Amino acid sequence: MPTELVAALDIGGTKIAGALVDRRGGILVRARRPTPAREDGETVMRAVEEVLAELAAAPRWASVRAVGIGSAGPVDAARGVVSPVNIPGWRDYPLVERVRRASGGRPVTLVGDGVAMTAAEHWRGAARGHDNALCLVVSTGVGGGLVLDGKLHTGPTGNAGHIGHVSVDLDGDPCACGSRGCVERIAGGPHIARRALDNGWRPGPDGDVSAAAVAAAAHAGDPVALAAFERAARALAAGIAATAALVELDIAVVGGGVAGAGGVLFAPLRRSLREYATLSFVRDLTVVPALAGTDAGLLGAAAAAGGPDREPAAPAA
Ligand SMILES: [Zn+2]
Repeated sequence: MPTELVAALDIGGTKIAGALVDRRGGILVRARRPTPAREDGETVMRAVEEVLAELAAAPRWASVRAVGIGSAGPVDAARGVVSPVNIPGWRDYPLVERVRRASGGRPVTLVGDGVAMTAAEHWRGAARGHDNALCLVVSTGVGGGLVLDGKLHTGPTGNAGHIGHVSVDLDGDPCACGSRGCVERIAGGPHIARRALDNGWRPGPDGDVSAAAVAAAAHAGDPVALAAFERAARALAAGIAATAALVELDIAVVGGGVAGAGGVLFAPLRRSLREYATLSFVRDLTVVPALAGTDAGLLGAAAAAGGPDREPAAPAA
């Protein structure tokens, strides 16, 4: 009997990726389109439908029993609608119903991209084997998701674990979300870069003022660049410690572009965590880099749709 499959969609502001995923996390067929993010909602949906049509043309499509979607947020899984900040044509867009129609009436599960990344890390990555985990995506924004008591905790609308908008600085700078001093307002890539620039860091001849350029300067020993990452690390540590105190975590997994900075982020993050996570039941919490890689969005969407439920995952490659 052929293995049952899940069709996965990973929808972001830059690309729409799709795949047929087996129960062990193997990716059998792929399809991809750029996201026409500045076009109207129907044009964006056509790109999603093209990805699905390409997957449906594969002979294995007949074995697909469900569709999982990980989308840029906010999402509302309870209502099946999405309003991604970086896809203005979609506001309360009925993505679940449209994907259901485009995939022959198969059941559709929707989660936010932070929750999808968490599902992937729990299934195939650094949170594997951990029953209580917080996974963070630190890039332009800061997202996240939770595994509690061994299960993905999505929350009613699919946004639980969104640590980027936990405030860690009561009188801090206003955040795009309307609050103040959010983790994202301090640890998001553009905010790391801005802080470095404000304190006198200057880019090299290529004029690159990204967080990656600040990370390179930090690795070269630039004290202002190091301090910008130190500040981001403290914000992340405070958010992680608060989450651990609330729900009892045994691991925090940090991925995303900013996490690519490596030691200049993780060393102060671990140090700060010892400062903020002090009670006996949070003291042993560890922080590790994410492992699921560039396919995390697809694997997570598949996992959220029940991909791994019927068969134990094979050891990670
Ligand atoms: Zn915020």
